[in-house]
Amino acid sequence: MAETLLDKVWRAHTVRTLPSGQTQLFIGLHLVHEVTSPQAFQMLREAGLRVRHPERTFATVDHIVPTASQQRPFRDAVAEEMTVHLIENCKDFGIPLFDLPSGRQGIVHVIGPELGLTQPGMTIACGDSHTSTHGAVGALAFGIGTSQVRDVLATQCLAMARPKLRQICVEGKLGRGVYAKDVILTIIQRLGVMGGVGYAYEYAGSVIEAMTMEERLTLCNMSIEGGARVGYVNPDATTFDYLRGRPFAPQGAAFDRAVAWWKGMATDLDARFDDVVRLDADAIQPVVTWGINPGQSVGVTERIPAPERAHDAERATWREALAFMDFEPGQPIAGTRIDVAFIGSCTNGRLSDLRAAAEVARGRKVAKGVRALVVPGSQAVAKAAEAEGLHEIFQAAGFEWRNAGCSMCLGMNEDKLQGREVSASSSNRNFIGRQGSPTGRTLLMSPAMVAAAAVTGAVTDVRELLR
Ligand code: SF4
Repeated sequence: MAETLLDKVWRAHTVRTLPSGQTQLFIGLHLVHEVTSPQAFQMLREAGLRVRHPERTFATVDHIVPTASQQRPFRDAVAEEMTVHLIENCKDFGIPLFDLPSGRQGIVHVIGPELGLTQPGMTIACGDSHTSTHGAVGALAFGIGTSQVRDVLATQCLAMARPKLRQICVEGKLGRGVYAKDVILTIIQRLGVMGGVGYAYEYAGSVIEAMTMEERLTLCNMSIEGGARVGYVNPDATTFDYLRGRPFAPQGAAFDRAVAWWKGMATDLDARFDDVVRLDADAIQPVVTWGINPGQSVGVTERIPAPERAHDAERATWREALAFMDFEPGQPIAGTRIDVAFIGSCTNGRLSDLRAAAEVARGRKVAKGVRALVVPGSQAVAKAAEAEGLHEIFQAAGFEWRNAGCSMCLGMNEDKLQGREVSASSSNRNFIGRQGSPTGRTLLMSPAMVAAAAVTGAVTDVRELLR
């Protein structure tokens, strides 16, 4: 019988069916960071347990690391303490750690694929919502909470309910200035932030097939913002080319054997889905959020919608969003003044993102009064960007060029919005308070759109600058 990747990977990793009806699922790769792991390690110690598979567990520091001066000890005592705990825990439990001196540090969802740890057909877990990112290579990747981090550390297994599967087909060709970020924001706008609850998303169609691996990583990253804990793309030649030669990918003949197995894990042609949604690429334009969740967005040429257009259940949230953001229904989103421009995060902190933003920034200047930051997603991304001279393009334009980390994606480090500042951000969440100020306002968009906002001082259709 024809099967989907979800069927195949789930079956291959099933240990047994639990009395609750959930599956005890073996986890092939566990990624750990400093924020959600300290209590989990402590619970292990209290129970007298070791890490079940340290060779399948890898750690990094990303959320709390400062991106300006990374001199230890960090100025922020909490950041320093968390870093020390992670270093000690990794040492005590025999877990490899990609810390600052390693040259391999970065945002956990950037370094996993980059190092070839993330592979097709795997089950992956990490104590972070955006673990769905890793589905881009054809894995089932779950964001988990701290008690589940403990469970995976102790048993290498998770108790999981099997989700239903929705295939999202995007057909056609994206226009110039329209990126993977615009595709996923459009999907979330159309299906809603709760639309994927209980589902895994399989992304397919000619647009997805034509995407690079980095674009697929952006797409899968925000699955969770549409309510789907898991999002994946079937492994294909793009996947195999991306993984070939990466440090933790199989090497030589073992790689060829792995490719044969990976190909077999892709969804069969005549497999069935619980739901299928189709999108036309021609209808997708650069997208900007106007509200306080990633589903509240419009195309850059559109106007902010009136709450009357929302479903009954969402109308109150739309009103709250308009009031918080200081927007009026009917107001064009283009022209909204910004104070801060942030390019980075596990959604859009990869080399291709920085290239797209640099294309816009080249030869231009950051607008007066705008604070603009470029934060590479990993040390490897920073090194590659510097080798191409991208940092010089950004610095010449007036952007700050920072060290790798989560930075202003969330307010857990020194990079924060101040007061009511409006931020054009390439990250994934525009929740109230997300960027560190309880009253700060976030507009999500692609990195190229952020660069366009930075140099004009306002939300701008990047297509006008690319002509
Ligand atoms: S960049 Fe943002 S979303 Fe991604 S792991 Fe860091 S804090 Fe989480």
